[in-house]
Amino acid sequence: MLVGRVSFYWARCDLLYLIEEAERRLKIPESAISQLYHLVAFKIRKPKTQLKKGMFVISIDVDVGCSELGIRHRGKNDFNIHPYFSEYAVGKMEEMALPFFVDMFETLAVPVTFAFRGECLDIDTTTVGLVLDSSVEHDIGSHGYSHRRFEDLSYSDAETELNRTSVAMRRCGIIPRSFIFPRNSVAHLDLLEKYGYKSYRSYGNFIHDRMQIEKHGGLYDICPSLHLCRSANALFLKRILDVAVEEKAPFHVWFHMWNFSKYERCERAQLESIKRSVKRAVFPLLEYAREKVNLGVLTFETMLSAAEKVESARVLGQ
Ligand SMILES: [Zn+2]
Repeated sequence: MLVGRVSFYWARCDLLYLIEEAERRLKIPESAISQLYHLVAFKIRKPKTQLKKGMFVISIDVDVGCSELGIRHRGKNDFNIHPYFSEYAVGKMEEMALPFFVDMFETLAVPVTFAFRGECLDIDTTTVGLVLDSSVEHDIGSHGYSHRRFEDLSYSDAETELNRTSVAMRRCGIIPRSFIFPRNSVAHLDLLEKYGYKSYRSYGNFIHDRMQIEKHGGLYDICPSLHLCRSANALFLKRILDVAVEEKAPFHVWFHMWNFSKYERCERAQLESIKRSVKRAVFPLLEYAREKVNLGVLTFETMLSAAEKVESARVLGQ
């Protein structure tokens, strides 16, 4: 059984490797083009949300949270997680990478939103425990229970997902108030309100990413501004942050921890690849943002604190 699972994992990774190799040979700097486009678009389109000062929001999707989940499901939930990586592989990468991210956010005192899968908290609370024990007060939100697309779920199935997540999180002393839809599939917003959520992140892409916070019923959509990955460029990111400061707008970046990983056959090498990418692009961005915060022209916010701040100040320019 173990051999079958491991070989299935590598078969998926080989496919990812072929795609990466094709991109490399064709010399397509996809991320650079995306970041340049975002920079120009944010400069041209005036953000609709006007705040008292710029906001920098970071949210992290934790799709699995522990390798044990992948072992228990034996590949049966892989198709809900990732097109190339198995649930086990994603859980393993997240398990290994999370301490590094928690340390980095502690070093610069940056609070972020970690959206955990409820099912992980039923199986292994090691990773969420690291976030809870951090000296920085992070926002621990929900990323569904089994990572199924909400648009594919009936009302009652969606409610079951939310209910099971609430029960699992309550056992760890967490009441989740921020929700990140698995695979960015937005649906059943009324249920989110029923289960006490205050903020969520809607779907974004190359064209629709924006610096904006919208109110829908009792919920605040902390709209996505940019997805980060391993080819992120610190220079572009800093210039985009400058736009948020100048326009007093929210800049919301999001990622999965494994988005910074390069294809490697060895798990240890994958972790080193994540660390290298993050130190090259994300850490300089955080240092730069910290300088802006110290100058009083920017605030670090989680999805929840952004929603609460906007609600209390009623600053939405819509
Ligand atoms: Zn996800």
